[in-house]
Amino acid sequence: MPTLAETYTEARLAELNARLEGQSPQDILSWAFAAFGERVTLACSFGGVSGMALLDMSVKLNPAVRVFYLDTDVLFPETYELEKRTAERYGIQPIAFRPLITLHEQAQKHGDALWSSDPDACCAIRKVEPNKRALEGMDAWISGLRRDQSETRSTVRPLDWDKKFGLVKVSPLASWADKDVWRYIMANDVPYNPLHDRGYPSIGCTHCTRAVKEGEDPRAGRWAGTDKDECGLHTEP
Ligand code: SF4
Repeated sequence: MPTLAETYTEARLAELNARLEGQSPQDILSWAFAAFGERVTLACSFGGVSGMALLDMSVKLNPAVRVFYLDTDVLFPETYELEKRTAERYGIQPIAFRPLITLHEQAQKHGDALWSSDPDACCAIRKVEPNKRALEGMDAWISGLRRDQSETRSTVRPLDWDKKFGLVKVSPLASWADKDVWRYIMANDVPYNPLHDRGYPSIGCTHCTRAVKEGEDPRAGRWAGTDKDECGLHTEP
């Protein structure tokens, strides 16, 4: 007997995408809440405006929405502060998923500064594995992926089959541009990470994020100096 998620074959996804493409993010979210009920969850990193816009829209449509984030133990103080501020403002309790090993245990096992020596291995421990646990028992998850964010994200559709985690991935902002998200944030007075105002368009862990200079690619501050541009949550297995 297939799970609900497994009934979303490529043919069905293609048909649904033809219908959902061009609809508003709120319409796509409403569709997802109706289709998956309690078995859809929203990922919000508190480090990007897309996630904050989606959180605002989601809570307004479905106050009981399950929100989670990955606490790698090395997020910026501003990110932890935003999570607390958001929880108070919306009356929600975002669920933190943390790595199975502490930073100390990681250093003992893999050496100091694994984020420098092998960032893929570090992301696998501190992001990908916790994300897998966050999605257990779910049929779908909602992410803030947008086609305009990078070359690797240029084919994102409102609905995709997530091969890595084995469920449907909903991307309501797939067709939005950065300016659309900011317009929504300002118009709705949505809280956002103050580091955005200090030259950080994309915010992850402290060790792997720097401010970008005028004219640089918005994601140039992530894993700067390496060829890595994704943490592994949104790449093929
Ligand atoms: S972003 Fe950096 S510190 Fe964070 S999990 Fe990945 S490699 Fe480790």
